[in-house]
Amino acid sequence: MLAGTSEIEKAAEVLRAGGLVAIPTETVYGLAANAEDPQAVGRIFETKGRPPSHPLIVHIGSAAQLGDWAEDVSATAQLLADRFWPGPLTLVLRRGRRVPLEATGGLETVAVRVPDHPVALELLKTFGGAVAAPSANRFGSVSPTTAEHVRTELGDDVDFVLDGGPCGVGVESTIVDLTGEHPTILRPGGVTREDLEAALGYPLAVPATSEVRVPGQHPSHYAPRARVVLVEPEKIPTEVELARDAGHRVGVLLPPVLSGTAIDAQAIVPVPDSLDAYARGLFRYLRELDEQGCDLIIASLPAEQGLGLAIANRLRRAAGPRG
Ligand code: AMP
Ligand code: MG
Repeated sequence: MLAGTSEIEKAAEVLRAGGLVAIPTETVYGLAANAEDPQAVGRIFETKGRPPSHPLIVHIGSAAQLGDWAEDVSATAQLLADRFWPGPLTLVLRRGRRVPLEATGGLETVAVRVPDHPVALELLKTFGGAVAAPSANRFGSVSPTTAEHVRTELGDDVDFVLDGGPCGVGVESTIVDLTGEHPTILRPGGVTREDLEAALGYPLAVPATSEVRVPGQHPSHYAPRARVVLVEPEKIPTEVELARDAGHRVGVLLPPVLSGTAIDAQAIVPVPDSLDAYARGLFRYLRELDEQGCDLIIASLPAEQGLGLAIANRLRRAAGPRG
């Protein structure tokens, strides 16, 4: 059942009492705590098994509140906030005094965004403050895109789950660092690089090691239980055969160019043609292949344009060496 006013009021109470609430956003479900309560924020890290040096995103109710949570809000920051909020864009700025170091992994910068989901926005309004929230999954695993995913993965470790239906975007926000000389994409996500560049009027840098801003981060992230192997689309049929001969239970994310090709895998998810639909479904597909008992998932990268950049980033990280 989708959350209504009484569930949202209950969730705000839980936040005020220092509890953890799973919240729907347009990207993925978040594991939220009062951003100003260091102890509550600490519980997020315990629950996820996430290293405390790994900063969280602070979710606020509107672009007008940005100055309450960050310092030195530049014209560029304001332009991006006005253009893309509410939406899947996170801005890294200098930390405002209301944000405890626990929420920023000890950094003097803070990541902030306004989520584009009616339930999350209503909760932020009712609660009145800001919530720090990473994705509502155990550290390193696949992000949840339904309330059911959260319940299955976190169970009683979360005090309250707000159901807002399946997430519309399905991959995390794009993170843009505005604390350096030039804006930099730290993580590709729901707002495309092309849209950011159009708004800014100049090209953006995407460092090869995007998102790895903190030491000791495992290369593997967004990963299902099954090992993920990335190959060129034309090699998929042969790879599947080899893997099956080696005794693997194989799942395939079948790219559109191979649709109609007979593939002898245990489980096949045909990847949608539209990148919007692919992003929306990606984490669910990985979960489904795990549930079907696959121990190996074979996939190809989409072209890295538009949402393809974020999808390829998540697939690469899912296929990264396991920590
Ligand atoms: P998530 O894992 O979805 O909660 O995303 C949080 C990510 O935001 C972290 O992994 C960091 O890469 C990034 N992030 C958050 N705060 C900061 C910050 N202050 N500076 C740089 N990156 C940050
Ligand atoms: Mg996450």
